[in-house]
Amino acid sequence: MGFKTVFEDCDILVVGGGMGGTGAAYEARHWGRDMRIVVAEKANIDRSGAVAQGLYAINCYMGMQWDENQPEDHVRYARNDLMGMVREDLAYDMARHVDSTVHKFEEWGLPLMRDPENGRYQREGKWQIMIHGESYKPIVAEAAKKSADKIYNRIMVTHLLMDENKDNRVGGAIGFNVRTGDLHIFKAKAVIVGAGGASHIFKPRSVGEGMGRTWYAPWSSASAHALPILAGAKMTQMENRIVLCRFKDGYGPVGAYFLHLKTYTQNAYGDEYESKWYENTKELVGDYIDHHPTPTCLRNHAFIEETKAGRGPIHMVTKEAFQDPHKETIGWENFLGMTVGQAVVWASQDIDPKYTNPELTTSEPYVMGSHATCSGAWASGPEDVSPDEYYWGYNRMMTIDGLFGAGDALGGTAHAFSSGSFTEGRLAAKAAVKYIRDHAKDKIVISDKQIEDRREEIYRPLETYEVGRNEIVGGTVSPSYILPIQGLQRLEKLMDEYAGGIGVNYMTNEPLLLRGLELLKTLHEDFEYLGAEDLHQLMRAWELKHRAIASECVVQHTLFRKETRWPGYYYRGDFMKLDDENWHALTLSRRDPESGEWEMEKAPVYHIVD
Ligand SMILES: Cc1cc2nc3c(=O)[nH]c(=O)nc-3n(C[C@H](O)[C@H](O)[C@H](O)COP(=O)(O)OP(=O)(O)OC[C@H]3O[C@@H](n4cnc5c(N)ncnc54)[C@H](O)[C@@H]3O)c2cc1C
Repeated sequence: MGFKTVFEDCDILVVGGGMGGTGAAYEARHWGRDMRIVVAEKANIDRSGAVAQGLYAINCYMGMQWDENQPEDHVRYARNDLMGMVREDLAYDMARHVDSTVHKFEEWGLPLMRDPENGRYQREGKWQIMIHGESYKPIVAEAAKKSADKIYNRIMVTHLLMDENKDNRVGGAIGFNVRTGDLHIFKAKAVIVGAGGASHIFKPRSVGEGMGRTWYAPWSSASAHALPILAGAKMTQMENRIVLCRFKDGYGPVGAYFLHLKTYTQNAYGDEYESKWYENTKELVGDYIDHHPTPTCLRNHAFIEETKAGRGPIHMVTKEAFQDPHKETIGWENFLGMTVGQAVVWASQDIDPKYTNPELTTSEPYVMGSHATCSGAWASGPEDVSPDEYYWGYNRMMTIDGLFGAGDALGGTAHAFSSGSFTEGRLAAKAAVKYIRDHAKDKIVISDKQIEDRREEIYRPLETYEVGRNEIVGGTVSPSYILPIQGLQRLEKLMDEYAGGIGVNYMTNEPLLLRGLELLKTLHEDFEYLGAEDLHQLMRAWELKHRAIASECVVQHTLFRKETRWPGYYYRGDFMKLDDENWHALTLSRRDPESGEWEMEKAPVYHIVD
């Protein structure tokens, strides 16, 4: 097709230049002064990833210098919020290093707000500090650009490449330039995946003309999960999808409203409703409902039940707080630096929060490892903290040798957020440098056949379209191919209906999940007929494939965990109660790359912190 092949031989390849990826590039240079460090990023590193538009708060900062919190406190907090299910070693390790990351951000020019009374960083909540964060991403990108030998923008990585000299060892990655179509082959001694979370695997609330408006970034296409899954890495907690309570239609964040502006919620009749669902929730989860702060999923549960009971919509009471001009300013600024769309939605719907209490809603589910939930790859922890089952030599290394991860890519590390993801990237890079030095004699072999097979597979949707377009029967409809958008909507619909999306009030059960797996299988079969009319659609085709494989993993995990651990995130109708006796455990999966069969197992949850 006339595309060039660009070959890169490096020491460390970072896949995805978001928060985790930029942290990895920065730290890799610190420890690997003599190493060739390369980043492959799907968009442009200056404005890519979930932080592209900026943020208004850094959600993970201990404040150890002022003894505000200690890492152990953060582990307790994350554990409580996730109903006990986190990797405490990873969480602790991130928390003990995260403050130094934030201090670097400030040094690099990120404006952190200060409390005028005590001179400390302005707290929004116990863990959050407030920033003027419109330029957050360009600032961290600059650090990565100064550190890496080469940043390849506009490269969609489609597969990891495997070393043919040694079993179960990564050897690089392959992908294509979404603008030129050129094939990019990266040979690398270590690969760090930081390719972000997954939106658009469940049908979103915003469809039709609103499509593309999602809470998590619409371009977060599950690559961080799909790449390791396809290579045979173990995954953990993939059932732990997140549902957010957000301002309706714009997905505007509520954190600053609750924490800083002290706004509160009420039902359509002006009544407080959360306490009404106390007994009901206690029936499902026992004492977890008495924990402080109330786990996020349980607050969602009350919201969902109140709405099901016919007393919605739920409103955020802003009218009182917005009478204070300072709070009114903060309320608007909160969106302008992070989710401009919410301000636009309010303007278009005649909502002035000073006079109208805006509606809230619960979102469709998303899958990721860095926000308030922890789905992702199963990775080794640090040597000084991790118990044996959590440690295999190199911090943040997955179950494939030489393959590391950070941020959304890794499982078990909830509540890392932007600063924690950058920190994880740093930790992964430090370990990757050590791995390379320890394995200096490794000779990575990637055969021409491996590359040719991938090349053929990568471009196939373009060829399918080329041939199939001759059979177009009307508009864009051809009997011989499906377009990425058609495949995406089919995926979203089946995940919604069978795996517990908004259309079924987050409810699923074994028969539904088994049927969902059957439908996923036929979807995968039909991917043979994906057609891409141009390079942009080729990217969409690969995003869809990545989303579909991550979705399959989500369904497998949801099927495996026979309890409802997180009411408010999803419900197993056949096992409505939390079951600590049998399921106080982490779930693990591995997909055999040859057969496509899944193996599931439990792993113990070690409570390392009291
Ligand atoms: C709406 C929203 C609000 C948030 N609010 C806050 C907040 O207030 N405070 C806070 O601290 N955190 C917040 N977060 C969380 C924070 O943004 C994430 O935790 C963090 O960005 C995760 O880092 P990451 O590196 O895993 O993913 P990202 O930062 O999303 O980076 C992933 C990168 O991978 C690239 N990529 C994806 N696929 C491929 C591929 N196949 N090949 C190559 N590159 C690829 C992407 O383009 C992107 O650059 C928020 C997130 C969202 C979505």
